[in-house]
Order: sequence, then C-alpha cells, then structure tokens
Amino acid sequence: QPAIGELVRDCQPTFSFEFMPPKTEQGEQQLWQAIRELESLRPSFVSITYGAGGSTRDTTVAVTERVATETTLLPMAHLTAVNHSVAELRHVIGRLAGAGVRNVLAVRGDPPGDPTGEWVPHPAGVHYAEDLVRLVRRSGDFSVGVAAFPYRHPRSPDVATDTEHFVRKCRAGADFAITQMFFDADEYLRLRDRVVAAGCDTPILAGVMPVTRIGTIERSVQLTGAPFPPALAARFEQVADDPDAVRRLGIEQTSEMCRRLLDEGVPGIHFITFNRSTATREIWQNLRVGAAT
Ligand code: FAD
Repeated sequence: QPAIGELVRDCQPTFSFEFMPPKTEQGEQQLWQAIRELESLRPSFVSITYGAGGSTRDTTVAVTERVATETTLLPMAHLTAVNHSVAELRHVIGRLAGAGVRNVLAVRGDPPGDPTGEWVPHPAGVHYAEDLVRLVRRSGDFSVGVAAFPYRHPRSPDVATDTEHFVRKCRAGADFAITQMFFDADEYLRLRDRVVAAGCDTPILAGVMPVTRIGTIERSVQLTGAPFPPALAARFEQVADDPDAVRRLGIEQTSEMCRRLLDEGVPGIHFITFNRSTATREIWQNLRVGAAT
C-alpha cells in the first residue's frame, strides 16, 4: 500500500474522508453505504477513527482491515494511547501491519468519560502523541500522521507552547498532520505560518466538517474547545428555523472555505463525514475536483 506521507508530498492536493467505527448493526450499514458511495470519488485515502476513551477499538482495526481488503480505497487507522500499555499498543500496530495497513494517525486521545478531565497515562503506556509516533515508527514500515490544532489544543496554555509541542511531534517522525475542524480559513493559515516560522515543513492537511444542522455548531464547540466564529454563527442564526437553509449555508460556507484553502496551496483537504456521504459529495461537486467531475 502507498504511504500517505509520500502521497501528500507528491500528489497535492490530496482529498480524503474520515469515518468512525460503527456501534450498532444499523450504524454498520450506514458506514458501508457511505464508504461505497464515496469510493467512486476516488479519494487519496480514507481514515477510520479510534474509539474515544477506548471504546470500539477492535472495530477500528476490523473496519480498516476490511477497507484494505474489500475496497479500492487506501485506509489509514487512527490510534490513541488511552488506557493502553505499550504491549497492547504494539499488538494493535501488529494487527494493522498483518492486514497490510501502512498508514497510522497517532493521536494521544482524551480521557474516557469527560474528555476535558485529567489525563492520566496508563502506568505502562505513553504520555504524549510524540511517544506514540516513535512507537509506531519503531514497530514497522509505517507512514505516520499527527493532529494539529488551528485554535491551539485546549490543554495548551498558549499558541506558542502549542506550536512548540506540535513541532516536537513532527520531529519525532510524523510525515504529515491533519487539523482539528475549523470554520475560518485564516485560522488554518495562521497555524501554517507559525509552524513554518518554527522551522517545520511537515505538510498540514485541513480537516473540514460542514455545519449541516444548527446543533453542529454547539457540537463543534464541544469537540474543538474553541469558539465558533461569531460572524458566521450570526449568519446561521438568521436561518436557524429553516433546516434546509442551514444545510445550504453550511455546504456553501465549507465549499467557499475549501476553495480559499486550495487557492492558498493547502496540501490536502480531509473531510470529516460522520459516516454520511451526501454533504461531502455536494462539497466535492462544488469544488469540481477528482475523478467524478
Ligand atoms: P498531544 O500531541 O500529546 O498533545 C496533548 C497536549 O499535551 C497538548 O496540549 C500539547 O500541547 C501537550 N503536549 C504535547 N507534548 C508535550 C510535552 N512534551 N510536554 C508537555 N506538554 C505536551 N481522538 C480519539 O479518541 N480518537 C481518534 O481517532 C481521534 N482522531 C483525531 C484526528 C484528528 C485529525 C484530530 C485533530 C484529533 C483526533 N482525536 C481523536 C482527538 C485527540 O485525541 C485529542 O484532541 C487529544 O486531546 C490530543 O491528541 P494529540 O495527539 O494532539 O496529543
């Protein structure tokens, strides 16, 4: 399988889709329907998240294996350090290698239960994503990605410290990074500028998620720990009573933001799909990229 680090360097911009491991049979059907519908767009790769707080871990590995063996897609598995000893992490990495998976997104993960609670590392585990990057690197021929935070990670005291830690993580062996979702292209560009100013040239793919209903705004604030841009929130508020208009505005705003990012030379766009294909397809069509156009 190709290494995503090389794809990102050689075939920019990349377009990729993120899926979550399903929790129910119905969820599994929805996931595979979305995968099949998006497969025809021939994305550069797809990724499968690792269960927050330690749930659905086996499912992540199983879905990634199945994508590798039953589809034409290039899969990447997310991996977190939550509640795992180094021996357990090695076991998971070994299963991925056994299925021919060569691409891993190494993220620390959040504490189970309350994601903002105290982070307690497993007594025989690793503390930071940079340690996980080294572990995956040492465990085989993997291309490794890491997380980046346009607004800074909620646990980082300030943007400068956040940048310093991000650069350490890249120097530990990351080939590329993917951002947390954001809703203002300038936030991405500022992150890129400060990382370059710190002497780091790791390509940073933009993680995007359209607002498709008004509740997405609150959810994004919970997920990112960052405020939603007030001027954009006001535009959504104006149409809050009309679900179709909210969705239209979300697709339009994300398409505009992606266009601006592409004009600014973003190395790739990573769509967070929540296991649904329609919004991603619409944005894809608006951007007129890929084999489908
Ligand atoms: P780290 O890079 O370890 O950073 C965590 C905090 O520690 C930061 O505040 C950082 O500044 C600080 N820090 C780092 N190194 C040091 C150091 N040496 N000394 C002191 N402080 C330090 N979560 C899941 O559970 N499953 C997933 O599949 C998943 N996928 C994700 C995909 C993307 C693209 C993103 C952006 C996030 C994802 N997450 C996922 C969420 C992620 O696990 C959390 O945001 C987590 O809190 C941070 O992970 P990290 O890898 O950035 O951690």
